[in-house]
Amino acid sequence: MDRLVKTTVVIEKCDSYEREAVVDAVRRCVEHLGGMSRFVRPGRSVLLKPNLLRGAKPEKAVVTHPEVVRAAALSAREAGGEVSLGDSPSLTQLANTLAQSGYDGFMREIGVRAQPFEEVREVDTGIEGPFHKIEIAAPPLDADVVINLPKLKTHAQMYMTLAVKNLFGCIAGKRKLGWHLKAGRDYEHFGRMLLQVARAVSPALTIVDGIVGMEGNGPQSGTPRGLGVIIAGTDCVAVDVVICKMLSIDPDLLYTHKAAREAGWGVTDLSDIELKGVPLDEVTVHDFKPARRGDLILPLPAFAKRRLRRLFTSRPIVNVEACRLCGECARICPAEAISMDREIIIDYDKCIRCFCCQEMCPHGAINVREGFLARWLGGT
Ligand code: SF4
Ligand code: SF4
Repeated sequence: MDRLVKTTVVIEKCDSYEREAVVDAVRRCVEHLGGMSRFVRPGRSVLLKPNLLRGAKPEKAVVTHPEVVRAAALSAREAGGEVSLGDSPSLTQLANTLAQSGYDGFMREIGVRAQPFEEVREVDTGIEGPFHKIEIAAPPLDADVVINLPKLKTHAQMYMTLAVKNLFGCIAGKRKLGWHLKAGRDYEHFGRMLLQVARAVSPALTIVDGIVGMEGNGPQSGTPRGLGVIIAGTDCVAVDVVICKMLSIDPDLLYTHKAAREAGWGVTDLSDIELKGVPLDEVTVHDFKPARRGDLILPLPAFAKRRLRRLFTSRPIVNVEACRLCGECARICPAEAISMDREIIIDYDKCIRCFCCQEMCPHGAINVREGFLARWLGGT
């Protein structure tokens, strides 16, 4: 008996950020999903949630490109929605981040209001343990429709940041660090928390900017990688599955994917996804450079010698040549494991391997040094 098709994911090619090409590709994606009027009714509030990790020029591939966000805003506006845009960059104010990332112009042009994520609400996730209740920013909870607009990037801790992970930005500001601290080195647990945030926000539509993604030392200091695609769907878990297949990555490497399978939330199997747009094999790449694996941490006993632990476990290391002693890594470290003197010193006994420092260093001066285990596995 045929399996039921549960959801649709669309892949459309788009080779540049030329305005009309992007508008056209986003429109084709949305048409395959039933058109924007399926999601947005006249007068309803629409919140766009791009990836605005920090203010960065669009060509760096750190933020969702403003042309992709503009195309989604335009489409929602044409459907009659009251469109706003929000995120919670970890270190900078939303207004500065928008200006630095080239968003100001289109927001004025289309009439998109900025919504800083300041007010929060407590959401009961219904799961046991420290993630039982999560404070999520009010705007995504209050909006009639959330449109999730991730950037396709690598991520040292979570392997990739795609559709599900992008919604972690709905945790307001520095509260994100608190969640890292609660999860500690348990990445599977952190993946479960990310899934719960995605469930609470439940975006109606996800449109991923994969025109130029990021590979290598992401999500901030990696290398832009042209992939030439926009990928869209209503199920953010399914969207992530299709992107993994496109990049020849096992979706199980994503902790959010494992969490989704475990929870039975979202479509986790490619055979249950109806693909529309261009065929997957036309856009598949086999040489995408993943992030260095920060997740391979050998559980050594407390008495294990410091040196032994360092040898076996992945860890952040500072490139002293590139470091400008700005101190942002020390400010952001949830475990207070970083101190500054004439150089940056990381206390690896305190470090929980969340890689927030690597994620946020504005000068790309922190890399992931894989431990023996990761290197050995990588070489097999
Ligand atoms: S954030 Fe980067 S540049 Fe700034 S002090 Fe830390 S390692 Fe150095
Ligand atoms: S040193 Fe870096 S990886 Fe370690 S806990 Fe601090 S921010 Fe996280």
